[in-house]
Amino acid sequence: MNIAEYKGVMVFAEQRDGVLESVGLELIGEASRLAAHLKESVTAVLVGSNIKSLATELASYGADRVIIVDDAVLSHYDTEAYTQAVTAVVNKYKPEIFLVGATTLGRDLAPRLSGRLRTGLTADCTELSIDEATRELWSTRPTFGGNLLATIVCPDHRPQMSSVRPGVMAKLAKDTSRKADVIEEQITFDKSKFKVRFIDKVVDKSKKIDITEAKVLVAGGRGVGKEGMPLLINLAQSLHGELAGTRALVEEGMVESSRQVGQTGKTVKPDLYIAAGISGAIQHVIGMENSELTIAINTDKEAPIFQVADLGVVANFHEVAPVLIKKLGEIQA
Ligand SMILES: Cc1cc2nc3c(=O)[nH]c(=O)nc-3n(C[C@H](O)[C@H](O)[C@H](O)COP(=O)(O)OP(=O)(O)OC[C@H]3O[C@@H](n4cnc5c(N)ncnc54)[C@H](O)[C@@H]3O)c2cc1C
Repeated sequence: MNIAEYKGVMVFAEQRDGVLESVGLELIGEASRLAAHLKESVTAVLVGSNIKSLATELASYGADRVIIVDDAVLSHYDTEAYTQAVTAVVNKYKPEIFLVGATTLGRDLAPRLSGRLRTGLTADCTELSIDEATRELWSTRPTFGGNLLATIVCPDHRPQMSSVRPGVMAKLAKDTSRKADVIEEQITFDKSKFKVRFIDKVVDKSKKIDITEAKVLVAGGRGVGKEGMPLLINLAQSLHGELAGTRALVEEGMVESSRQVGQTGKTVKPDLYIAAGISGAIQHVIGMENSELTIAINTDKEAPIFQVADLGVVANFHEVAPVLIKKLGEIQA
């Protein structure tokens, strides 16, 4: 492998049913920052069926070039079909960095791609940076149960691949005057390698809240306790926010697992994060430390959550919450 042949930063722009996933746009933002250090450009790869119109949106979020593989074979996600399409694009355009969102789809696709491309993959990164002297990508991710942060490099193979969870990186501001070069690629698929046949799609119709999209999150921990749950829910409603929680509350069945914040839950970045009765274990903090404003309520003034909070209230949640709810009601009235 001649490493010098590989140039630029490429992002997998995931779409589902013709709608771009936010993580792809976030990664284009991060790719722009990395590409500036390398003095290179950002390419988005868009794979699917009838998806060409999405190129404009990718450009407006900072992609300099969009490579589209539009084929009926790609109308539903299939690991092998997607792998063949993206591998062909990477082998042709040879990016030095390739970024994927660590979504359910991305977590399935990225390892297959790295195997096919014979390169390394650093999964679930929380920070990316460039060593300008060597042009190496430094990918940082939590390890050993979140107690350490490891920075991983891939010196001998290209592209350097990393996956990043949704909500970790920041999008560029949308600018509809930005334009991208749009290239369409035709892929000859080896259908003999397809192992999965699409039969039907069953949509889960239960009301699903995505806490990664919420502007206001009211998160509870063990300190809230069962008796404090109605107060926590009431506070979330008063703030027009969503309920979230630590793993402790999820394990006790008081909060749905889809609302768990942290290393084994979701990474969130709301405008306001209220951490009620949460100690601030590293595995929790990893998922919420990038919130715009964090207010912590805890009876223990030494609780680690106060180290990441912008505002700390040393008090009993059961006493503070009714006052807050009453005050919010008055303001809204
Ligand atoms: C591999 C691994 C992955 C993990 N992943 C996650 C994850 O994704 N998300 C996650 O959250 N955790 C995760 N954990 C668990 C994590 O280590 C902590 O155990 C957990 O976050 C603690 O939850 P907590 O803050 O609710 O409870 P505790 O640590 O028990 O804290 C309760 C806090 O409430 C305060 N308190 C008590 N009463 C009151 C009151 N009346 N009013 C106000 N404050 C009060 C206490 O002072 C205390 O600080 C993981 C652990 C491991 C090993």
